Amino acid sequence: MSATGEQNVQILLGIEPVINAGGPNTKHSGSRPRDVAIRAMEEASKKFFNIDEFVIEAGRLVAEMIGAEAATITSGASGGLVVQAAAAIARDDPDKISRLPSTDGMANELIIQRHHRFIYDHLYLAPGARFVEVGDGETCTPEQVEAAITEKTAGIIHLESPFKDNMAVPQPVLVEIAHRHGLPVLCDAASMLPPRSNLRKFLDEGADLVSFSGGKGIRGPQSTGILAGTPEWVEYARLNNYPNATVARAQKISKEEMAGLVAAVEEFVNTDEAEETKRYRKMMQLIVDQIVEIPGILAAIKHDRDHYIPQAAITFSDEWRGPDFDEIHRRLMAASPRVYLMNIPKTGELIVDPLNIQEDELEIVAERVREELIKAASGG
Ligand SMILES: *Cc1c(COP(=O)(O)O)cnc(C)c1O
Repeated sequence: MSATGEQNVQILLGIEPVINAGGPNTKHSGSRPRDVAIRAMEEASKKFFNIDEFVIEAGRLVAEMIGAEAATITSGASGGLVVQAAAAIARDDPDKISRLPSTDGMANELIIQRHHRFIYDHLYLAPGARFVEVGDGETCTPEQVEAAITEKTAGIIHLESPFKDNMAVPQPVLVEIAHRHGLPVLCDAASMLPPRSNLRKFLDEGADLVSFSGGKGIRGPQSTGILAGTPEWVEYARLNNYPNATVARAQKISKEEMAGLVAAVEEFVNTDEAEETKRYRKMMQLIVDQIVEIPGILAAIKHDRDHYIPQAAITFSDEWRGPDFDEIHRRLMAASPRVYLMNIPKTGELIVDPLNIQEDELEIVAERVREELIKAASGG
């Protein structure tokens, strides 16, 4: 006899889980959806709706809560990048919308600062765009951006991401250049929440469309995203997005996911950030206290542009003779229970992130990290 559906769910959920102490990384299940989001998903599953109406109402509610003029819902922030590019190329032209990703005869170039290139940026190319890179990979000037604009230009990309801001043309300057040429600024701010002030910041700087992840700090359904912006550009985005027969049609977002996101955003914006930050700080202090005296190890709480909530950042001092963080990360994931931390080779930081750590997991994380670092420090 074959197992019933429910038995198979138990088999599936029986695969070795991970204690996620590394933050809302997609390959480690993103963030934990809020209870209110799960409840909203269940409720939404019991009814049918006209999805065009549902998408418009969900976007309106999200916009109102985050203080944006307009917003629409996407399949993750990555889905938002596809829709941004499609909107920039096709706007509200039904013929163009239906022809993408074929861009014959259309302006399809997106200007991007070379040092803003990042692992997901090829999503911008999915609707048939191509990049025009400016700057030398370290710096870029407003003059270089403006000189790249031609009649083939569809928009200018701006990335807001940890460890990425250095030496970029500031967004307000990009906006001034773009708008002088009738072009939109497409901002990817997927992982910049919290702080909640960022919900408005990039819009206030003049970005036409800003893509946020619904499945990171907001803790909505993992597959959701928000595209916030001006009413004009949000409407272009909506026309180019699911459920219409467009290049983004494969990026389906169920009514359950949209309802879950609306519920999560409501709780997210109504949460006291000072209280939340205090709680995260306390959690991270416990981690730091456990490891700070290990020879060769430096540990400190960081909370700044590169560390969106208080995180414990672990680095090596000159005295360190043990294995590198790749190896320590591997050991933590190979043991049982598996503990996932975020390894950032660029800055040499191993990060403990409190967002996903449950109350009963904190001590386990502290103990496992301490054990592995002590073993590594003594040449193990
Ligand atoms: C996480 C991230 C994305 C993707 O967001 P999803 O919601 O997972 O699709 C895109 N861009 C940046 C900069 C990110 O950090």
